Amino acid sequence: MKFLSDLRLKLTKNGFQAYRANQVFKDLFKKGIDDYNEMTTLPADVKELLGKNMPIFSIHPVQENKSSDGATNKILFKLSDDSLIEAVLMKFNDGRNTVCVSSQVGCAMNCKFCATGTLSFTRNLTYEEIADQVLYFSLILNKTGERINHVVYMGMGEPFMNYDEMSKSINMLRDSVALNIGSRNITVSTCGIIPGIKKFSKEFDQVNLAISLHAPSDEIRNEIMPISKKYPLDQLMKTCEDYIQTTHRRITFEYVMLAGINDSEKNAYELASLLRGMLCLVNIIPYNETSIKNIKGSDKKKINKFKNVLLSNHIQVTVRVSLGQDINAACGQLAGKK
Ligand code: SF4
Repeated sequence: MKFLSDLRLKLTKNGFQAYRANQVFKDLFKKGIDDYNEMTTLPADVKELLGKNMPIFSIHPVQENKSSDGATNKILFKLSDDSLIEAVLMKFNDGRNTVCVSSQVGCAMNCKFCATGTLSFTRNLTYEEIADQVLYFSLILNKTGERINHVVYMGMGEPFMNYDEMSKSINMLRDSVALNIGSRNITVSTCGIIPGIKKFSKEFDQVNLAISLHAPSDEIRNEIMPISKKYPLDQLMKTCEDYIQTTHRRITFEYVMLAGINDSEKNAYELASLLRGMLCLVNIIPYNETSIKNIKGSDKKKINKFKNVLLSNHIQVTVRVSLGQDINAACGQLAGKK
């Protein structure tokens, strides 16, 4: 769905009154009606104009994978040019209903542990294609009186390589007449695109920032995340310090545990020393195994040891609850299979 202002413009240009756009938004976002023909307040000619020119959805589901416990639902969507993207709904026990959205078709960053990284980059998503992933799940939950209350930009693609459309999609998600999701319930995750972090700190200081760090040194990071050759750790850390000073917000550092690559006790001490004194949280992520050869996840014992080293060095740590292992929930796995 486009912005309310776009809908109004379309209607007034075609001789209809602007308030019809408000009726559409009310029916769609408040009542969960996703078909113009079922919006009883609209006259037939408005339904026809909008149906032909402004379809509600820019994306269409082609495959659904629900986990056996029902907590995770991953949808493969087809776009107008037949490209495929994925989005996942995760329902946590604490009441969070989180959608993980994609921001690009494929990804050019080529992180070695990531299924999306093995798909080549095709194109950026429009803001509508990003926001519609949330709208899709929101309409499903609407039927049971629930709502989406968190959104994370952690699906396919690097959001800061699609900065303008990502920004517009955040504005659409936050719009009180649309999905009405609070800024502090939205998290954008980047692999460390420094110009994007700088811009984001000024334009979205209330939206959460997560950095996919995944290594405590350039040596390891260069091996698994080629982008770090362009934006090495010392520059990235300096940018993070500046971000905290500008926004007074905590940064989450994502750290995926890869057996024999970044999960030793020594790595944990290196990470603790890299982050010492910084307003941050380390989110340790057990690796959702993919078909990528030579990359395996660390076992529970290793993860616990790693966590304890960070804790003993006064670094805040969480270990991500791992959902959706039975549905290939790691990003890019479904699209890759197709
Ligand atoms: S981890 Fe993120 S940035 Fe890296 S290849 Fe995958 S989608 Fe792209």
